[in-house]
Amino acid sequence: MNITPIDVPGYEKVARAEDPESGLVAFIAVHDTTLGPALGGMRLWKYRSEDSAKWDVLRLSRGMTFKSAVARTGLGGGKSVIVADAATKNDALFEAMGRFVDSFNGLYITAEDVNVGIPDLLAVKKQTKYVTGLPRDMGGSGNPSPYTARGTFVGIRSTLRAALGSDDLDGRVVALQGAGSVGFVVGQHLVEHGAKLVVCDVNESNLARARDELKAEIVDPDDIYDVECDVYSPNALGATLNDDTIPRLKCKVVAGAANNQLDDESKHAQQLKERGILYAPDYVINAGGIINVSLELVPGGYDEAAAFKKIDHIGDALTSVYETAKSRDITTHDAAQEVAESVLAEARASAGSGSKEAGTTA
Ligand code: NAD
Repeated sequence: MNITPIDVPGYEKVARAEDPESGLVAFIAVHDTTLGPALGGMRLWKYRSEDSAKWDVLRLSRGMTFKSAVARTGLGGGKSVIVADAATKNDALFEAMGRFVDSFNGLYITAEDVNVGIPDLLAVKKQTKYVTGLPRDMGGSGNPSPYTARGTFVGIRSTLRAALGSDDLDGRVVALQGAGSVGFVVGQHLVEHGAKLVVCDVNESNLARARDELKAEIVDPDDIYDVECDVYSPNALGATLNDDTIPRLKCKVVAGAANNQLDDESKHAQQLKERGILYAPDYVINAGGIINVSLELVPGGYDEAAAFKKIDHIGDALTSVYETAKSRDITTHDAAQEVAESVLAEARASAGSGSKEAGTTA
């Protein structure tokens, strides 16, 4: 396997791997390990170019730094992406990826992400111990998606409370983009509390499940932005809040689990603010999965009750972001960023005190 380091200003370590035998082409980015080893999922996607894969891994890993800082997981920010078609994924590819992950010697710890599930991670684990999110019976904390969904649901409620003065979901309309591992479970929580769903997805079976089990109205993927609703909940891919979509939104709040929702963070957070739409910063609302996984690494091992307690605090974290944004007339993105930067600055100030062990601040 050829592993090539890539120098990226502002990032601790970025590398590209190519393994001719398995066909692997992948990138790992470690953005910042001030708070601990960089933990972030492994995404497999049919990127249109290697440049777009690199762009994705850089954005995603940076987002993980801020996510873990705000959620106080005691972890740093990292991510990995594999450039491949999900239809062709196989164990040899993931074993090669395991060797790539292992070459970071624990600076990067991996987990699930889009198109990468438990069977794939088991192949990764044959080559490296730096894998989290494995099943409970294997000593892991299990699939993080339901925990991300729980945190997202709690976050949707606190966002509605901040925007409309009430988090009652009865009769509220939620436009849900992406009914996959996270989105479907978010939808389940919402429907249980009386919300009505309008769903889009590009995967036929996920769409059918949303229609049949959540009684969702189905719309074309491109029409989701025009749906008259209370909540637009992005739970698919990133950059869906952009110059084209923001003017079309007919919602009161944006609150969903997708990573890197804002195409241009400052500009599009500002556009949402000007339109009077309350935006739940993505890395604050979708921290449930990383919180759950981080508790796998604490001394004493994983405890689900502790995970639920911490995940349910996501609502309070968002409320505090909204209060800051309102009182200072800044965007919710900037308010969240300030929290993350202050946690990082505090850790840097006390550097040398040996606080790099994962989970120690969890
Ligand atoms: P997933 O692959 O299970 O689900 C994504 C869904 O979005 C799929 O059903 C897919 O068909 C659909 N989709 C893809 N492109 C679409 C489009 N253009 N329009 C509509 N639907 C589309 O992935 P997931 O694990 O549910 O993650 C969803 C998002 O949440 C991702 O952005 C991921 O990075 C983020 N996230 C996930 C977790 C987690 O614990 N899984 C944690 C934090 C953030």
